[in-house]
Amino acid sequence: MESRQVNEARILAEYTRRTPGSAALFEKAKRVTPGGVMAGIKFFRPHPVFMRRAAGSRIWDVDGNEYIDYLMSYGALMLGHGQEAVRKASESVFHEIGTTVTGTPTEMEVEFGGIIRDLYNESGLVRFTNSGLEATLLAVRLARAHTGKRCVAKFEGHYHGANDQLLVSYMPPVASAGKSESPTPVSDSLDVDDSRLSDSLVLPFNDWESTEKLVRSNSKRLAGVIMEPFEEGVIPGDRKFMRNLRSLTSDLGIPLIYDEVKTGFRVRVGGASEYYSITPDITCLGKIIGGGLPIGAVVGGDEIMEPLDPAGDRASSVFHSGTFNGNPLVMSTGRATVEVLMRDGNFDKVVATTETLKKGISSALSGQQVRSCVIGEGAMFSPFISVDTVRNYRDAEKSDVRFRRNLDLALISRGVYLKPTNRYCLSLAHSKEDIKQTLESFVEALGVACSLLPS
Ligand code: PMP
Repeated sequence: MESRQVNEARILAEYTRRTPGSAALFEKAKRVTPGGVMAGIKFFRPHPVFMRRAAGSRIWDVDGNEYIDYLMSYGALMLGHGQEAVRKASESVFHEIGTTVTGTPTEMEVEFGGIIRDLYNESGLVRFTNSGLEATLLAVRLARAHTGKRCVAKFEGHYHGANDQLLVSYMPPVASAGKSESPTPVSDSLDVDDSRLSDSLVLPFNDWESTEKLVRSNSKRLAGVIMEPFEEGVIPGDRKFMRNLRSLTSDLGIPLIYDEVKTGFRVRVGGASEYYSITPDITCLGKIIGGGLPIGAVVGGDEIMEPLDPAGDRASSVFHSGTFNGNPLVMSTGRATVEVLMRDGNFDKVVATTETLKKGISSALSGQQVRSCVIGEGAMFSPFISVDTVRNYRDAEKSDVRFRRNLDLALISRGVYLKPTNRYCLSLAHSKEDIKQTLESFVEALGVACSLLPS
């Protein structure tokens, strides 16, 4: 039996051999930006793939390698690359408005805002931002303004963007994260200091008894509870857990915030809220609603949103602004995306394609006797290796991430792209042929990676 290291080295060598252009660009990039990437998430070892162009479900790198793309820009593209309606929508902005931004209100933001509001909180209001991060930032500010309190409860392992109030216990080393039933807040970033940590309460996802105890005993200081209703977009909250949390926060008057930046328009058209039939007090959106351009949105009940009214009395207002909020180009591509998804059963088509791939990957793994669970809802999923179930961060930490990373690198070398260890995100552009080809590559990559599993 060859050693783990020898096989890892082989997968790495294969990857490096196929991507010399990316390796060279990465060296150049490191002299331009810290670590060679403009966003931390884009980095992986030994170097990221630098992509040059894309069409539909396909993407090509600077070395001319072609891939079936399952990153779909971290789930932001639900129709695939360069989709016709989205392309026309962006071009129409130049034809009809003649500019990309007016700095004034436009009819487009009102129309598109109305569509989003009706889907996520019919009786509420919406405010657009330029990123998911800005949406979670605003959500926390609104919750604090509404309650007059500062402490924010979040769940261990849940991500809410590069937001210093919420970069707490996203990826804590388990050894220093305290007991699973009462996790210690751990800073995820050098700038997140004790003042941030003391304003944080960390909750254990899918552990109702402990969550209830923590929320009740901190209720007097809680401004809000924020969560990814599917941790990392794929680990569902148990239905009972979600219902209990909704009732408890309602009873205690604590705003419940769903961060649906990943799950919005991907788990269901109406996001995880539709899946659970639960309306939170505030919803954060992003990714898909921009149609491939930068966006975020906050949707909330009017009592919570009203302080954003700039005509209001200064003493009872929440200041919020943004030069590019509601940008016509983004409104146009976002609306085109949402409209395509909502017609002709298109959303269900993406889900059906996703199910085929998910099942295929699941049976390929069990066919090779790789213990795993492949989970996710709607149009995204993720395989976790060497575990039977994953219900929260600590379960996910027990999975074999090293194996998964190597498997994904081997897949890249076989024309299937996703950022190693990330989730699979599908789009309307993925065809049956794509799925067939992906599964063939998957079986091959698995054959190479399997030798890495402890025998
Ligand atoms: N919240 C969640 C759940 C996310 O997945 C992300 C981005 N992956 C964000 C917030 C931040 O969004 P953005 O990258 O647009 O700032």
